[in-house]
This record gives sequence, structure tokens and C-alpha cells, in this order.
Amino acid sequence: MLTIEKYSFGVGDRFAHQAKSQLAGCVQALEKGVEVVPVWNKSHREHTTIGSEPSSVRQAADAAVASLGWTKSHYVDADHINMGNVEGFLAHSDFFTIDVADGIGASPEGSAVSDFLSKHPELVGNIAIPGIAEPFETTEAYVTEVAAKYLQAVKDAGQIYRHILEKKNGTPFVPEVSMDETDLPQTPPELLIILAALADEGIPLQTIAPKFTGRFNKGVDYVGDVAQFEKEFNDDLAVIAFAIGKYGLPANLKLSVHSGSDKFSIYAPIHRALKRTGAGLHLKTAGTTWLEEIIGLAESDGDGLVLAKDIYAEAIGNVEALCAPYAAVIDIDRGRLPSADDVRGWSSAQLVAAIRHVPDCPEFNEHMRQLLHVGYKIAAKMGDRYIGLLEGCEETIAKNVTLNLYDRHIVPLFIGE
Ligand SMILES: [Zn+2]
Repeated sequence: MLTIEKYSFGVGDRFAHQAKSQLAGCVQALEKGVEVVPVWNKSHREHTTIGSEPSSVRQAADAAVASLGWTKSHYVDADHINMGNVEGFLAHSDFFTIDVADGIGASPEGSAVSDFLSKHPELVGNIAIPGIAEPFETTEAYVTEVAAKYLQAVKDAGQIYRHILEKKNGTPFVPEVSMDETDLPQTPPELLIILAALADEGIPLQTIAPKFTGRFNKGVDYVGDVAQFEKEFNDDLAVIAFAIGKYGLPANLKLSVHSGSDKFSIYAPIHRALKRTGAGLHLKTAGTTWLEEIIGLAESDGDGLVLAKDIYAEAIGNVEALCAPYAAVIDIDRGRLPSADDVRGWSSAQLVAAIRHVPDCPEFNEHMRQLLHVGYKIAAKMGDRYIGLLEGCEETIAKNVTLNLYDRHIVPLFIGE
């Protein structure tokens, strides 16, 4: 059993060049006395888009750890895997995000639902959970409905977990179960029922990624009712603590917040909740680092600035195709996207101000930022030209990557301002 630390921070690096500058954010936190361990995550989808292999994530992570002399843990996350694509990750990952969104809503086989209900009479009726003011009131019909919706997904998770366990052949790993890529958020009572089912399935999950209320658009701030988010987040923490005791789940089980980068307005509520309860947290970021690469290129001026403008020009010429796979997680107003020609005429400072995530900066343009977020395919196609300039502008890019992760994410989440 590998036991992940209380605070962990998912970092994604599309082109495997920023591991060191990402780790530098964790080093700074440690200097402040707060241990936040890095987890390098990359999904099958990202690997396919970039044309990279899971081994490259492990190599880049290990090299960064060696180079900075990081002596705390680090992990490599096979992000959003399923039975169809886990194979290539097995040798290189020690953290597996088991994605069961496809099984949500599928009809569970045979008597699975009624068996679950007979096994869990405690889930029907009045459920008082320490830390939640109002007890949950559930009916048999409600628990039946939730079980019917999630049990197949839980069974799928069990199948994938046991497959990984067998293939890892004694090498320990951290299992996460993710349900975030689905249509509706899971409420705290649903989370309790899901955790009971996951425990029945024998999955020693250490992190769980529900879908939270509100919109988690790529690369920009949270959109939704922050007060409602805070209540649900606190209730979820209470449910997890309760389920650990009740169902014998791992004592370090914690929430995992996906698409967690750039959600500045919910970081203070999350930080308050962690301080108040002593709970742990895993928060995943990915594309925010790719955007810092563009910002660093633009800030480097010269060829870097030209490249950043070329990527934008290509992106605005392909808005439809780039946005289609991300329709549920972006909100772009086409009317707010400047033309490629306009952007050609911009200075380095103008382009940087438009895309750097400083929401109250008057020049900040969240529409451009979201478009570029989903445009990493363009850089992948550029191949050596892009990688060459990443290396040529390394110093400026690294400074932006570290500052973004540390100042805008790690400090408000884990250290407090
Ligand atoms: Zn996710």
C-alpha cells in the first residue's frame, strides 16, 4: 500500500518540459513549512493529442525530482484511465485515476440494486453525520434510484482496480475513482451511497473526484454560486470522514478536485474547510501550465512572441474544431475574440496581459485564454519549432510556470494568504 500524503497537487505538462518549474512550486511550499507533494498527471486523451507515451511523464518527473533534490514523495498519475487504455500506463504510474463516468446511469446487472439495499439499511431514513447540521432524510426509493444510477460505475471501478492490482503484481499504487466527467454533480447524500458501494467493492480508494456544483471551465475562474459550493464541499468532507469510519475505507481518503486550476474564487472556501477539519486534498491542474508556456513565449518577445501569435491565429481559424470536444467545459463568446490581424499588431506586454490569469486586470480576456487552453494540439503539430522555442525561452517560461502554480494556486489553497 502506498499512502498518499495529506496535500497533493496534480500538475499536467503537455509537452514534458516543465516538470522542474512545476516542482519548484512544491519546493517553495516546503520552504514555508507546508508539504504539498506533486503528482504528474496526463490522460490517454492528452497523450493521443500530443503523440506522447506514458513513459515520458515518468522520465520527466524523475528527472525533475533528481535535479531539484526533492526528497519527499512524487507520483505519476494515469489520469482518467479505463479498461481500454490502462495498459500503456501500468509500468510507469503509481497513481491511477479510474474513470467510471461511462458506467453512470447504466443498468446494473441482476439483483445488484436490491442486494445493495438489503446490505445497507442504514442508508435509508434519518442519517446524522457529524459536521452536517441537518441530517440527511432518505427514502428507500431514493437510495434505490441512486444505487441504480451508480452501481454499474462502481462495479466497473472494481474491475479496473483489480486488473491494475494484478498487473502491478505487488508494486503499490494509489487508486482514485473519478466521476467528474458526467452531466450532473453528485450531491453529498449521493456521495455517501457511492462510497458505501465502493467500500463493498473492496476498492481502497484514497482520493475521490466527484463532480461539484457549478462550472469548472478550462483555464478560467469558477462559475457558479460560491456559497453553495462551500456548503457542498464542507458536506462532502463530512461525508468522507463519516464513510471512512462506517465502511472501513482508507483513513487518508480525500477529495480530488479536477479541472482545479484557476478556480481562484473557491480556493479561500477550500482552504478554510481544510484548516477547520484537518482534511487532506488533491487538486488537479494541467492546461494552466501550457498557458504559462504561451505567456512565457509571448513575454520573451522576438521569435517567442511571433510563435504565440501564430498559435492564436491558427486557433481562431479553427475555433469550431478545437472547442467541440470541450463544449461542456468552456464558455467562449466569439464576439470577444480579437482577430488574428489585431493580435499581430500587439506588443509582448499586450498579449501577456490579455492571457495571463489576473481576472481584475482590465486587459484580461477570458475568451482568448479559453481558446488557447484548448489549442495545444496546434503546438503539438508544430513539433520542433514549438519545442525549440520552449527550450530557447526556458528561463522566462519557467518563471511564469512556477509563479502561477505557487502564488495563484498553492498559496491560497494550502498555505493561506
Ligand atoms: Zn477529471
